[in-house]
Amino acid sequence: MTDGGAFMKHRLFLFAVSLLMTCAFIAGCSSSTANSGGTHSDAALSKTVTIRMLDAGQGDAILIDTGAEVVLIDTSDVDERKLFMGALEKAGIDKVDKLILTHAHADHIGGAEPLMKKYQVGAIYDNGIASTSKLFTGYRKMAKEKGIPVTALKAGDRLDLGNGVSFRVLGPSADRVRAENQRVKKNSKDDAPSPNNDSIVGMLQCGDFRMLFTGDAEAVMEKEYVAEYGDELSADVLKSPHHGSKTSSCSEFLKTVSPAYVVISLGEGNDYGHPHKEPLKRYAKLGAEVLETDINGTITITTDGRDYQIEGER
Ligand SMILES: [Zn+2]
Repeated sequence: MTDGGAFMKHRLFLFAVSLLMTCAFIAGCSSSTANSGGTHSDAALSKTVTIRMLDAGQGDAILIDTGAEVVLIDTSDVDERKLFMGALEKAGIDKVDKLILTHAHADHIGGAEPLMKKYQVGAIYDNGIASTSKLFTGYRKMAKEKGIPVTALKAGDRLDLGNGVSFRVLGPSADRVRAENQRVKKNSKDDAPSPNNDSIVGMLQCGDFRMLFTGDAEAVMEKEYVAEYGDELSADVLKSPHHGSKTSSCSEFLKTVSPAYVVISLGEGNDYGHPHKEPLKRYAKLGAEVLETDINGTITITTDGRDYQIEGER
């Protein structure tokens, strides 16, 4: 809670949760199976969860400490390695239990090799779509040398991140991965034609708190997710898809997710003009508060599973 820093606090379903806790106590249960909205877990977490969208330039790097495991989603870009590694050091981690790489673009896997060189990485998860890029083959080779297992995530998978925290994988589907790999194989010199849309998309659930991770998914996929999952996409916080690009964050998707906050990871003065004004307008129309790493620095969300706080370092 630095001077001038954005600091906001929300109370989630406090009344409902209090009621459930009371019912559970009366029933002599340590946890209740009732929930609100049909998608929310109702158990309070024994430890606080910290999610940091790192100030690591033009790329994504999100560090999640569940109190049981340290999880990293993406590693920012090659050009941003100094910032990325500095941000990890500042966060004070000494290992990464799970590394999730949403897709094989440089601004998501650029820091994977220095990360593996400096920190012990327990397991790597990617979307299982092959790429001929040096960065992709490089991190796969290093993972093999270090004996780090690489597993492909697909829709329907669920990662247990400890302390009752889970990451439910919503996409890509097994069919999409198969089709993309066939295309890559046919024209092995080219990357998959739409790597952004192959991004791993998943819901982080910490008690009642939910955050939707989107990688660089674009509107075409957002619409597919709305059709497939509907209200199951609803989240308190949305990671802005594709760094606040106008190719993403379509109104239909935003209305379905209905986030109170949108967080955008991007570099100041980036070449892409991110964030574009169109998605910012749509976030405003939705009444969602927006925090950006270029303005607010590292954005930190803390939750005990019932309440959450979100703040920028500046
Ligand atoms: Zn990106």
